Amino acid sequence: MKQMTNSHPFPEAFKQRVENDAFLGEQLLTALNDTAPVSVRLHPLKQKAELTFTEKIAWCEHAFYLNERPSFTLDPLFHAGCYYPQEAGSMVLDTVLKQLNLPSQPSVLDLCAAPGGKSTLIAAFLNNNGLLVSNEVIQARARILTENTTKWGYTNTVVTNNDPKDFERLNEFFDVIVVDAPCSGEGMFRKDIKAREEWSEDNVQLCSSRQKRIVMDVWDSLKPGGYLIYSTCTFNSAENEDNVAWYLNELPATYVQLKMPEELVSGRNNIGHYCLPGKTISEGFYIAVLQKEETTPLRQRFTRKPLFKVQKDLLDAENYVKLNEALLLNWNDKLLLVPNQLEEKMLHVQAQMRIQKMGLMLGEIAKKGIIPSEELALNPTRLNRTSTIELTEKEALMYLHGDTFSLQGPQGFQIVSYKNEPLGWIKNIGNRFNNLFPKEWRIRMNIQ
Ligand code: SAM
Repeated sequence: MKQMTNSHPFPEAFKQRVENDAFLGEQLLTALNDTAPVSVRLHPLKQKAELTFTEKIAWCEHAFYLNERPSFTLDPLFHAGCYYPQEAGSMVLDTVLKQLNLPSQPSVLDLCAAPGGKSTLIAAFLNNNGLLVSNEVIQARARILTENTTKWGYTNTVVTNNDPKDFERLNEFFDVIVVDAPCSGEGMFRKDIKAREEWSEDNVQLCSSRQKRIVMDVWDSLKPGGYLIYSTCTFNSAENEDNVAWYLNELPATYVQLKMPEELVSGRNNIGHYCLPGKTISEGFYIAVLQKEETTPLRQRFTRKPLFKVQKDLLDAENYVKLNEALLLNWNDKLLLVPNQLEEKMLHVQAQMRIQKMGLMLGEIAKKGIIPSEELALNPTRLNRTSTIELTEKEALMYLHGDTFSLQGPQGFQIVSYKNEPLGWIKNIGNRFNNLFPKEWRIRMNIQ
């Protein structure tokens, strides 16, 4: 990302539009030339960070502002999934989720999920109850999403790499769908020069049409009575209030009134809510919620059996073992644990979608035995944390860099940790070890 200088000009058409918009006005332009606030959300089960917090964020649990931006890459606890750096405004999703009337085991789809900010927040909110399908259409971005959700380590997550249209195969499947839509990114103007350079009125219109298409494509996979959470990080009405009004007009949906923190601003015509720079300590975020009308009489819906389709070869007799609490699957030589209560739903998603990650991967079957997975090391609920080899900060960074050195400890597969937080596996062979930290996750910068 190019560094921001406050003097970089706004696109002229944007400037004029904002100046003439009574809802935004010049104060937004002034605020957008200020420095960007920095914030993180702690992992609720790890709760460890050596960062200096200035203030708690009122609208999200375990979330804090920092006084400056540290080098997250050079902090081993960041790699251990102890916290997620996230723009404060986006975290208002936590306040929204808490107000919805959800079943105890909801199925949630995060449709436009990479790099994973909202998905890690939703996973923390669900706390392993229900199912989270975290989807990203662009393959390279789906890989980053997989990395971030793996580090976050909740077993009830499935990561998919599908187009929104593909979700028509999961008809009336989700209780909540989050559409954090690709947008013109006016909320990025403060920290990213490129966002200012790439902005145009034509692009706003293009984004607005694409957002409509995305919502229409995914609508059928929302259950009657389910919620669609729509959000962007932009300030114009074409992508926000006008689109929400359009959805309400085109779809059998009602607008959901929310009680929001006083730092937020109600949208134009009271449609949705904004985190507005200058008024809210954030970059800029818009959010609104719709509820799908109950079109089918309730009694019919509860007696109807879902037509789950499971990929046949996955459940052939040699490919799985039923354990007490989970199904142990051999999926292309990857050993996966699928929790019992999610088995039917996860396998249904697996049969219909392009899967990047599902349940908890224990390891891969190789010629000489099973190689334990990174995911197993990072899972916060699974391991006895005393049985790790503790590293110093310097050693931890070398490990994350992909280096090897000599370590005291038992031989064979071992987990290395920093401040008792697992970082990953090594195979200790005496005078040195094989570093099993995934190559594509390694720190590439100079760590000296
Ligand atoms: N929710 C993410 C988070 O909190 O980290 C940020 C999502 S970003 C605002 C929008 C995402 O939509 C991007 O990852 C982008 O690749 C994806 N996207 C782009 N075009 C799309 C399309 N036509 N359908 C669905 N998603 C799309």
